Amino acid sequence: MAKINPDFAKEIFKYGNTDFQACYNCGNCTAVCSLSDEHNSFPRKMVRASVLGLEKNIQSSLDPWLCYYCGECSTTCPRGANPGELMMSLRRYLTASYDWTGLSKKFYTSKISELIAIFIFSALILVLFIFYHGPMDTTLTEQGGVKLNTFAPWKTIEIGDWIMAGLLSFFLITNVFNMFLKVIIKDKTVKIPLKLYFTELWKLIFHFATQWQFRKCNTKDDKPSDVKKTLTYWIMHWLLMSSYITLFTMIVGFLWWFQTDEIHNWWHPQRLLGYYSTLGLTIGIIYFSINRIKKDIEKSKFSHYTDWTFLVLLFLTTISGILVHLFRINGMPYATYYMYVFHLMVLFPMLMIEVPFSKWSHLAYRPFSIYFNNLKIAARKEE
Ligand code: SF4
Ligand code: SF4
Repeated sequence: MAKINPDFAKEIFKYGNTDFQACYNCGNCTAVCSLSDEHNSFPRKMVRASVLGLEKNIQSSLDPWLCYYCGECSTTCPRGANPGELMMSLRRYLTASYDWTGLSKKFYTSKISELIAIFIFSALILVLFIFYHGPMDTTLTEQGGVKLNTFAPWKTIEIGDWIMAGLLSFFLITNVFNMFLKVIIKDKTVKIPLKLYFTELWKLIFHFATQWQFRKCNTKDDKPSDVKKTLTYWIMHWLLMSSYITLFTMIVGFLWWFQTDEIHNWWHPQRLLGYYSTLGLTIGIIYFSINRIKKDIEKSKFSHYTDWTFLVLLFLTTISGILVHLFRINGMPYATYYMYVFHLMVLFPMLMIEVPFSKWSHLAYRPFSIYFNNLKIAARKEE
């Protein structure tokens, strides 16, 4: 018999803001959802499971990840139960349930815990710089730039980047593995043949690279303005994601090329990639912040405090990165050095909290959920 958690509603309320208990099970939400199909029928089933407190069923379900929060279900719900926001809350809840360290749950359910973690990670960077920074050379290079690599040699910073990337990968991979155990291994209704893991792999890569499901978040009855909104949202989301991945790749894999004292021409690939990423992040941050302030699309009507922490940390990381660049090429040594330390003091907590335990982890869980879901569908067809 399915195990019931009578306190589940109280628990899920910490992850979002929805009156899902008002649901009277009419099914309108599932009928209008453009992403629900014969293999995965949602969100009504998830609303029902939440009302009944069927925690284990929810933890082993992929449905919350297959929802891209177009909000159609919430606007259609006759009871104002806001199923779209419930699906969002369940994604946060699932992120916490995959995380074996318990940190994700702490960050999602306690503002104080998240603030303390940010403070600790920032303080760690500050202490490391206080004790180990290089000389604050105020002489400039022949091109008139700051000698940043004297103050913070890229070889030393790179070691820190690798340690950080190793930790992030370890936590994220083990959490994804935990997801795999819950949704594939514990599902006794289907057995996945080994070859499918390989033949379906391209879907994981495709959906990670394109976030294509956002494009499908429209019904045939949608007005052109709604279709345009969906397209804009998808482009913005993709811009933010690709900018972040480009920057992350450069700081972890190519710091020797990215952090130079030499000032390249503006059209040099190093600068162009830097400009693409910072511009993409800036546009994305402005777009998503305006949406959250104006609350004019369904998915931005409610903001969990972690949505704002993410945007604020990302904004501070981006703006400080832009300032480091401007101070460096304009020959302002002290401004460059202090801003560089501040940049790492926000970058480090942003990555350590958001990648394995919070918002950025959705970038992994979404394509993996599509991949796992396709494995199940393909295996059932073969049976
Ligand atoms: S439309 Fe509203 S009331 Fe009807 S099943 Fe969905 S959540 Fe429940
Ligand atoms: S928010 Fe959109 S995609 Fe998600 S369940 Fe509702 S209608 Fe479906």
